[in-house]
Amino acid sequence: MRLIDKVTLITGAGSGIGKETALLFAKEGAKVIVNDLNVEAGQQTVDEILSQNGIAIFIQADVTNESNVEELVEKSMDEYGQIDVLFNNAGISGVGELHEIELDDWNKVMNVNINGVFLVTKHVVPVMMLKQQGSIINMSSCIADIGLANRASYSATKGAILSLTKSIQVDYAKYNIRVNALMPGTIYTPFVEDYVSKSKDPEATVNSIKRRQLSDELGKPIDVAYAALYLASDESQFMMGSPFMIDGGVVNGKLS
Ligand code: NAD
Repeated sequence: MRLIDKVTLITGAGSGIGKETALLFAKEGAKVIVNDLNVEAGQQTVDEILSQNGIAIFIQADVTNESNVEELVEKSMDEYGQIDVLFNNAGISGVGELHEIELDDWNKVMNVNINGVFLVTKHVVPVMMLKQQGSIINMSSCIADIGLANRASYSATKGAILSLTKSIQVDYAKYNIRVNALMPGTIYTPFVEDYVSKSKDPEATVNSIKRRQLSDELGKPIDVAYAALYLASDESQFMMGSPFMIDGGVVNGKLS
């Protein structure tokens, strides 16, 4: 029960890493606010938590829409009266070499992956400032630390999230709010399944992903959920503005 009585808001918790984290946080005693754009998926996460005697509610909101985000925070406060942990997890993929990317596609990735984090954090931080405590977990990626083919727009957003994390950590340390970033490698979720299945040769794509890392296996959502659990809990009280790698050795390992 590492999160007993903590109110945790997770964006994009209807699928993949967000869903796994919501289930884990609930098992650890948290009250979980499950947000997603997709009503069916978000409600399904909540139903699974409730069936395991956990505490959760679903609030639909598009993280790129400021009035949706204001409502998300208001409803969360009406239900639980506080938000102790914010996990900015919602994100979308973007592929292609820079010269091939249409401006609309570029803007869409920027909008969800950066503006979404900006808006939700903007409206949650005042609640944390009042209570003089909080943990904000931002979803970056190990891609922020390396060059990877075909990911210009996506990597630009994840690099921005890492810089934003460090910068706002400085601003909010005085309110006892911690801000850290998760840096996963390839985690096998619907997000990656979709990318793999649409590639010309799915088997070759999986093998090329594996060649980047030291582990023989792709990452699983629970690998990232455990890292999020640590950042959400008071055990990580001395972690501030940190990038937290969960990448099977992609960034810091060398095969020879
Ligand atoms: P996923 O596609 O399985 O889940 C993302 C969820 O976000 C979906 O349920 C989707 O409906 C929701 N969402 C999308 N846009 C939204 C919006 N505007 N408002 C609210 N919800 C929205 O993806 P995942 O693989 O679990 O990825 C989660 C996060 O982890 C993303 O930020 C992704 O960039 C990051 N990440 C993933 C990997 C990986 O390999 N899977 C690696 C590094 C970082």
